[in-house]
Amino acid sequence: MPGDKPKFYLTTPIYYTNGLPHIGHTYTTVIADAIRRYKRMRGYEVVMTTGTDEHGVNVERAAQKAGVPESEYVARMAVAWKALWDELGIPADEFIRTTDIRHVRTVQWLFKLCRENGYVYKGNYTGQYCIYDNAFVTDAKPGDNCPDCGRPTETVTEENYYFKLSAFQKPLLDFYNKNPNFIQPETRKNEIISFVEGGLKDLSITRTTVRWGIPVPGEEPHVFYVWFDALTAYLSAVGGPDYEKRGFWPCDLHLVGKDIIRFHTVYWPAFLMAAMLPVPKQVWAHGWFLMDASKMSKSKGNVVLPRPIANMLGMDAMRYFLMREVVFGQDGNFSYDALVTRYNSDLANGLGNLASRTLAMIEKNFGGKIPKPGPRLPQDDVLAKVASEAVGEALERFERFEFARSLEAIWAAIAGADKYLTSEQPWAMGDSEADMQRKATILWTTAELLRVVTVLAHPVLPDSTAKVWTLLGQPGKVSAVELDGLRWGQLVAGAQLGKAQALFPRVDKQEAIERIEAMANEELNPTQPPAPAAAPAPAATAGGVAAPAPEKIGIEDFTKVEMRVGQIKTAERIVGADKLLKLTVDIGTEIRQICAGIAQFYEPEKLIGRKVAVVVNLAPRKLRGVESNGMIVAASVGPEGRPVLAGFPDEDVEIGARLK
Ligand SMILES: [Zn+2]
Repeated sequence: MPGDKPKFYLTTPIYYTNGLPHIGHTYTTVIADAIRRYKRMRGYEVVMTTGTDEHGVNVERAAQKAGVPESEYVARMAVAWKALWDELGIPADEFIRTTDIRHVRTVQWLFKLCRENGYVYKGNYTGQYCIYDNAFVTDAKPGDNCPDCGRPTETVTEENYYFKLSAFQKPLLDFYNKNPNFIQPETRKNEIISFVEGGLKDLSITRTTVRWGIPVPGEEPHVFYVWFDALTAYLSAVGGPDYEKRGFWPCDLHLVGKDIIRFHTVYWPAFLMAAMLPVPKQVWAHGWFLMDASKMSKSKGNVVLPRPIANMLGMDAMRYFLMREVVFGQDGNFSYDALVTRYNSDLANGLGNLASRTLAMIEKNFGGKIPKPGPRLPQDDVLAKVASEAVGEALERFERFEFARSLEAIWAAIAGADKYLTSEQPWAMGDSEADMQRKATILWTTAELLRVVTVLAHPVLPDSTAKVWTLLGQPGKVSAVELDGLRWGQLVAGAQLGKAQALFPRVDKQEAIERIEAMANEELNPTQPPAPAAAPAPAATAGGVAAPAPEKIGIEDFTKVEMRVGQIKTAERIVGADKLLKLTVDIGTEIRQICAGIAQFYEPEKLIGRKVAVVVNLAPRKLRGVESNGMIVAASVGPEGRPVLAGFPDEDVEIGARLK
């Protein structure tokens, strides 16, 4: 009964929409998704919330720069953020926008409760103000210049509503004391406690100089300012004023970056206490991924984007790296080199290799059915013990959010299986009854270990473990396995293996890095959209501009396009680009490398020797990071735009002949 399950509610920050997600945002969202999957496998009903923080002066400015109304600007951003999370397989259960009406109502309701309880008063806020940017400059003194435009600031006083944060010093310290796990990790807790012990100043929670915000009812032009608005989104997402009906409040876990922990552990519980609402159970602050030891930012030009990595190595590889490489809570260094190294060593050579060799031996020796094990030898029991210990260790570590240690425990079991196979050498055994029986035991034991690690790794590697589960022919879905019931010995003998498929193909490090960087470059500096035959049609742009009707051109325009007969010499698939083939084409004067978006409709082997029409004077460009020097001409057929290559079936045409 779903209603009987314990509930678990977790959130990522409500991300500010003045840009698009990079690997830092992806990191938090990936962790949240892994915890969500893990909790579900432990029997919880889980809601994970993420969303977009859409108010404030910076959004006003960005919209102005884009020449669109704020509402349109933020709608585009919300669509882009949500679409990326969907594409990366980490969608929210609740995606909350701070412009949603359910959120507006919740903020206004929370304010009303705080006011009724005597924690809100009207006062004057005095600060340095930039009249060009229409914004207060935080922390500026009289005489300081605006950090955005460099012009002098003016001292301005405006009427604000204040929240009596000073009244919550003692209640907060008592709360931290009674709930020692509220702030994590421990180092952050000490930082916050000394901040609160140092005394709390009342907090301005409205502005009259900001236009783009949630209005304070009956008090226009006051709008809510930053944190009173943004933090409340966590509550809006699970019912707002009606939170009791859904039963997901108080929140179990807020995941945040270390830079915003103070707002989540001081302001947020104080707002809720003032409104006499339940306070969240835990706030966990993680560190940053640094590039060359500095924080990633768009202005520094050292942003790592998630999509190119997912395209090249798969989303599971990125998830594994983010959760394995650093201790959760601390800063880590991001490098493509370390990413690809981990991919090859831990995924391709580790899990991928164990799965493929085990399953291949079962296929060869036992007709693709999991064999029934014979009598056990001590070394078989040793591996069983290794796996059982991995279960205990991996789950205990995951429960404490020691993700790297949890994965280490799982990979230690994989290494144990590799060692076991190397010493048992089932491939060197013959077909005698005794040998077959021994082989059955060895392969059952290895496959059972593979099943156990597949279940354990599922929250971190959801796609590839689902594949291994199918390959092992095990019943149901791996996501439905209950972690609490996971034991050695549950592998079903006699199960028919699924159809073999590659899990983590090994990649050449240098080539992989170059392609990831090239794809990132394409995404950051988009050029003209690729033509349909060379690549899949690009998704409609956010603006949704309709293509103008084609105008007629003169012959002089047509002759600008140089098309020649070419012959395909080689054709291969490209790792990480399902739709593209990499071709080498003889165009008479030279051999060219050309990418074509035809991989879903043409077998590469069958293309060799085929004569095609090639646009030879197209400027070289990179598709999915692979250089393409020219374009193969194809018709686009049917609603899905299936490519059909233009060709010369009836005549023996000369290679290099020009099409006119
Ligand atoms: Zn300024």
